[in-house]
Amino acid sequence: MVFHWSSLICRSKCVFLKNSSVLKQLIRLHSRVSPSMLHVARPQKSVTPPSENKVLPVFRHAERFASRTAIRDRHGDYTYEGIFLSSNQLAVQITEILRGRQGERVALLCPNDASYVIAQWACWMSGQIVVPLCQDHPLPVMEHYVRDSDVALILAGQEYLELASQLMEKGRQMLVVEDALRVLARRHGPNRAVSSLAAADEEVDLQPNHILKGGLDDEFYADSDALIIYTSGTTGPPKGVVLTHSNIQHQAYSLIRSWAWNEKDIILHTLPLHHIHGIINVLLCPLFVGAKCLMLPKFETSQVWSQLLSINMPAQDRINVFMAVPTIYAKLIEEYDKIFSKNARMKEYIKTVCTQKIRLMVSGSAPLPLPIFDRWEEITGHRLLERYGMSEVGMALSNPLKGERKPGFVGTPLPQVQVKIVASTEEGEKVVAEGNEIETRIPPGAKEGDVGELCVRGPTVFRNYWRNREATNKCLGADGWFKTGDSALYSNGSYKIVGRSSVDIIKTGGYKVSALEIETYLLGHPDIQDCAVVALPDMTWGQKVAAIVVPRQGKEVILSKLREWSKSRMAHYAIPTVLKCVEHLPRNHMGKVNKKELVKHMFPEKAK
Ligand code: AMP
Repeated sequence: MVFHWSSLICRSKCVFLKNSSVLKQLIRLHSRVSPSMLHVARPQKSVTPPSENKVLPVFRHAERFASRTAIRDRHGDYTYEGIFLSSNQLAVQITEILRGRQGERVALLCPNDASYVIAQWACWMSGQIVVPLCQDHPLPVMEHYVRDSDVALILAGQEYLELASQLMEKGRQMLVVEDALRVLARRHGPNRAVSSLAAADEEVDLQPNHILKGGLDDEFYADSDALIIYTSGTTGPPKGVVLTHSNIQHQAYSLIRSWAWNEKDIILHTLPLHHIHGIINVLLCPLFVGAKCLMLPKFETSQVWSQLLSINMPAQDRINVFMAVPTIYAKLIEEYDKIFSKNARMKEYIKTVCTQKIRLMVSGSAPLPLPIFDRWEEITGHRLLERYGMSEVGMALSNPLKGERKPGFVGTPLPQVQVKIVASTEEGEKVVAEGNEIETRIPPGAKEGDVGELCVRGPTVFRNYWRNREATNKCLGADGWFKTGDSALYSNGSYKIVGRSSVDIIKTGGYKVSALEIETYLLGHPDIQDCAVVALPDMTWGQKVAAIVVPRQGKEVILSKLREWSKSRMAHYAIPTVLKCVEHLPRNHMGKVNKKELVKHMFPEKAK
């Protein structure tokens, strides 16, 4: 069953935006619906103060910033009020379609613009669990997400109708998030100007100081599930990570405090919206504090550079926060080298603008290679703040906002996050470091630099894998400690991620080496553009170090020469003994390489 939002509102069968009289009709309806949802406040504004003890979903904060711009996308600006009101309308329809049921899984297949936010808020206002999909994923992956989470309803943007219809199965419904919803949200502009699409005869009196009513009672959000994010599936089929409203609030506030998010911030959003990085760090953090999120439909180097440099941008619209994954920084550097590197004045200008206008640049979701850290600093004057996190725990470790950011390290625990490093020894498991926001302790018998599995505990840690008790029990203990599967060490006041224990710790000739560390060295080679280091089974050495590299354009990389070059840089046992050159590495949206798949593909005879 497919519903069009506007048809539900208008009770006509199917209405499309192109029909401007219909649009006007919708706008009229919207203005009529609004007053019932808007309670005009008394002169002193009654706002809900942000509280970290009480769980308040993001939309509950909207009234504090009602007339501020929440989102800017390629179509225009949307205030918090506009987003709230459109979401509320959509929430009514969702409730109707799901016959008042709550806790249903609702898949989002929306473009990266205000419609995604409206759909997300609408799901939460109606008490549903959001399952964000990625339009670029192959169909079988999307099918796995919707089947595994037993999606009852798909919210699809108009451009994804065909795609969404391929995911329809018996009992599943679809609701079209028509552009009209977004257009209506825009009417509630920062100066309360009525959009040009609204008829001149329809001046709507939107009083300041509205209280925005919508959503369920606060108690509902105290302990209910909000979001299912699917893991990248490097260790089996993707699992649905269930995050509660409380998890989301703790994850967001932990970052808001540490990175000093405030309502003056403007962040550029170029990340996919099915992943924790794009959802929590870049979208929800700003929306919790009344800041502005500038959404690009997708990552494009020239667009990002033009935003970073605020070309043709009034001062109040300049972005001052940017967050991305290492591959994005690598691509921006490549573009910079192509376009600006021979222009000394431009280079100076870029550095000045970035240093003076941007307050924070963050990297995460994959290891940040040292050459990228250094080069980015050279170009922009920013020492990238690297942080570590994962879908199951949100962000756990972060370099400081103020203070020394150590390249190759991921800093210390964020507020409310407890971590420990557990090493496997002959005598059994042993904690070799344990810390929180305030301090890290090395227990007696352990020393700095000891490597073990990183474990995380705290209110940011997910509830469970969706309907997968076995997988949950494997890594989430009854004591609340979650085993991340990442190897880490603590040294000199900071944590370092050594790699995924399952693929990045290579045991060769009795030595343990980190694939990430070797990759960082190799990326410092002048002829290597990108690389992945993997372990191959070997009769003599246990495992062999193999490098799969992408040579720079017009360059050749030869094993004997690479080994010679490596001698002065890395331990002899870490130097790759196998080399394969490829044109590009298969990285996912977050810049990660699935190494198990890579070995299967590149060395089929070696893959188990
Ligand atoms: P995801 O759940 O898709 O965000 O993936 C989480 C995984 O990404 C972690 O378990 C790490 O293996 C990796 N990761 C995230 N941030 C970093 C980082 N700064 N350095 C190294 N690995 C990272």
